[in-house]
Amino acid sequence: MRENWGRVVAFTGAGISAEAGIPTFRGENGLWRRYRPEELATPQAFRRDPRRVWSWYRWRMSLIAGAEPTRAHRILAEWERKGLLLGVVTQNVDGLHQRAGSRRVIELHGSIWRVRCTKCGSRFDLGFGNVPEEELPRCALCGGLLRPDVVWFGEQVSTDSFLEAQELFSRAEVVLSIGTSGAVMPASMLPIDAVERGKILVEVNPEETNLSSLAAVRLRGPSGRILGELASLVEEDSSWR
Ligand code: NAD
Ligand code: ZN
Repeated sequence: MRENWGRVVAFTGAGISAEAGIPTFRGENGLWRRYRPEELATPQAFRRDPRRVWSWYRWRMSLIAGAEPTRAHRILAEWERKGLLLGVVTQNVDGLHQRAGSRRVIELHGSIWRVRCTKCGSRFDLGFGNVPEEELPRCALCGGLLRPDVVWFGEQVSTDSFLEAQELFSRAEVVLSIGTSGAVMPASMLPIDAVERGKILVEVNPEETNLSSLAAVRLRGPSGRILGELASLVEEDSSWR
């Protein structure tokens, strides 16, 4: 990997935030063990019972609001500052990469800290940690019902953010996939395409995933510890300076 420092892109998922106390969707202690996704993270569910969906989101938002970025988040931000990392393409909606200081962050699935009007389409930034108090938040412009500006099951990823992610991947030689099950499409097409184009996939995950068989290197363990070990190697290796 040494000759490729500076041409690395990180592809992250819920697992990078697990050590911050934010449950993942899949895997042990996954959110889905207690809630049925089809009742909560779909446009149909929101139409049927927006109060229930908002109450789940407000719970998740409060959880995230009280969380700190993990060691892995901070290391990625530091690598970007040092010019070792091109940026982060994340499936997470929690905003912890930005909190840790990462500047180039592409949020494929939107942000839990932004809302969108279901009537006029306006978007509003809430700011990290600001959980709406109302049971059913309303648009300040038209009074329409607001929803979390995240990509739900069955919804399209925004073309702009996907193109931006593809552009970042095209400049990378190494893809560092951290804490993702690789089960969500089209996000997971990014590392899959990268491997098809001859790029090196390095996986950081305590478990086997859909991407494992494509990875040239599989680092099994929690992201904080593994990235900590990688960071020590980077410190020792002066060849990138
Ligand atoms: P996922 O829930 O499908 O998979 C989580 C992965 O993280 C698993 O492979 C698991 O083995 C791994 N993992 C668990 N603990 C880890 C650790 N300490 N270090 C490294 N890896 C660890 O998550 P996904 O692949 O991101 O896809 C599901 C969808 O979940 C995404 O679209 C995302 O929007 C959404 N999501 C986001 C958050 C968040 O923003 N924090 C939380 C839950 C779900
Ligand atoms: Zn509106």
